Amino acid sequence: MEFRYSMPTEIYFGEDAVLKNKEVFSAIGKKALIVTGRRSAKINGSYEDVRQALYETNVEFVLFDEVEENPSLETIEKGREVGKKNNVDFVIGIGGGSPMDAAKAIALFIKNPEVNKDNIFSAGKLDSIPVVAVPTTSGTGSEVTQYSVITTHKDRTKKNLGQTIFPKAAFIDVKYTYDLPYNITVNTAIDAFTHLVEGYLSADSTFMSDIYGEKGFELFKYCFEKLVAKDLNPEFRRKVMLASVMGGIQIAQTGTSLPHGMGYPLTYFKGLPHGLANGVLTIEYLKSFKDQTKINRMLHLLGLSNIEELAVILNSLIDVKIDITEEEINEYSKVLLSDKRKLRKHPEEVTHEDIVRIYSNSLLRN
Ligand code: NAP
Ligand code: ZN
Repeated sequence: MEFRYSMPTEIYFGEDAVLKNKEVFSAIGKKALIVTGRRSAKINGSYEDVRQALYETNVEFVLFDEVEENPSLETIEKGREVGKKNNVDFVIGIGGGSPMDAAKAIALFIKNPEVNKDNIFSAGKLDSIPVVAVPTTSGTGSEVTQYSVITTHKDRTKKNLGQTIFPKAAFIDVKYTYDLPYNITVNTAIDAFTHLVEGYLSADSTFMSDIYGEKGFELFKYCFEKLVAKDLNPEFRRKVMLASVMGGIQIAQTGTSLPHGMGYPLTYFKGLPHGLANGVLTIEYLKSFKDQTKINRMLHLLGLSNIEELAVILNSLIDVKIDITEEEINEYSKVLLSDKRKLRKHPEEVTHEDIVRIYSNSLLRN
């Protein structure tokens, strides 16, 4: 057996994690750029906690609260300008995956003034200034991954920057998610679930990464029941956040696989939220495996007997109706087939026809 395992992010999980560990901020820097979306961080208490922690530890800060969903490279450049002008020495991302990913990208852009939206994907390996992450959704796991997924309008898609930007610290307090609306709770939980699935079935999965996957499936047994019953109590919020963190630690080792690669054009061209874009493809992706051994183990941990039972759960949570043509499916499939790194994550041989079948059976059913 051979594996490499690294998870450099310091995780502070629990009630009032930000305020109880406020000295972590002052140990990292003297002036922070806080990166958030437009509204939610100011409503769910996360921004206020961070603001107070910084105030009490004499860390100055400036706020950049213009991150949109699926943030663009243009927004990253704008955030860099604010950070540069104010001489910040670290970045705090508060929010869902969009502000956390933006915070990572902005931290990298601040450190490397020569980088811009036109040359970032051809740049070599780069450093960033330190990043701290405070998640307010339970889904992306971005607080414990090195990835930063950004929209590039030039390439008309979303892409991982291809850099390694692990947050130095992640403060995870589920109370910020208590008022997350049902639809966003579902979309983001399904994102976490697809991370667990794709990481577990990845060609790069290892003994270590499987531990997180299997623990995550155990948590999802409970989380699916609660999601279906629309009973989003604090215990559910805690477990789905833990599952999301498990998924993040796992994909930090394995990466994601076919559904994520196939989901990006569904988000870019059809506006599907990230979690749904992957989730709608998951059942057909699972059915495409010739070797079902690990899938059966996963189903067992979820308390299910077969893929159809999982399909019933996902179908009750996901209602995706998009207009898509066979030509578009053909085009998206070609693009995915050219992404050798994504394909390499799939442990079995995969053809153009396989990808078309997964898209078609998932999206052209009616
Ligand atoms: P998001 O795009 O960050 O946020 C979605 C919506 O939820 C926004 O309207 C946001 O409002 C709102 N929101 C966030 N927290 C809330 C709260 N506590 N209460 C109420 N509303 C809240 O959604 P996400 O699914 O978390 O992130 C998706 C992004 O993450 C995608 O770009 C995806 O590609 C990326 N991603 C990254 C990784 C990684 O490892 N780096 C993994 C998976 C996905 P505001 O805008 O007002 O904040
Ligand atoms: Zn994802």
